[in-house]
Amino acid sequence: MSLPLKLDHIGIAVRNLSEAISMYRDKIGLELLSVEEVKEENVRIAMFRIGDSRIELLEPLTADGAVARFLSKRGPGIHHIAFTYADARSASDRLREKGMKLVYSDVEVIPGLREVNFVHPESTGGVLLEIVKRLE
Ligand code: ZN
Repeated sequence: MSLPLKLDHIGIAVRNLSEAISMYRDKIGLELLSVEEVKEENVRIAMFRIGDSRIELLEPLTADGAVARFLSKRGPGIHHIAFTYADARSASDRLREKGMKLVYSDVEVIPGLREVNFVHPESTGGVLLEIVKRLE
């Protein structure tokens, strides 16, 4: 299937992950699921559960990645929204056939975690849209 199944998560760019984690966990009260370094995406990620969806905090590992560029241009805040798909590759193909600009020519596989691609904000009216198939 190549249509979105649900809202997977909202991605939020942060400058300081541990401060942001304590805000979302201790003040807002979300359940922290994991903290992981994803070298492929040049970020450290904290994932929180909210019902059937998640909040993903993204802290850049270096000053030259996509999230670091976002932070220096726009400051901390909502970076992308992500939809769950049963098949990230066929979803990417379908969206490309519909004339949308995809960030990766093929899905990026983060072993054991997920397959992802992104629809460029140029194609969506300003929202970076992540295509996710969860492998975990
Ligand atoms: Zn994401």
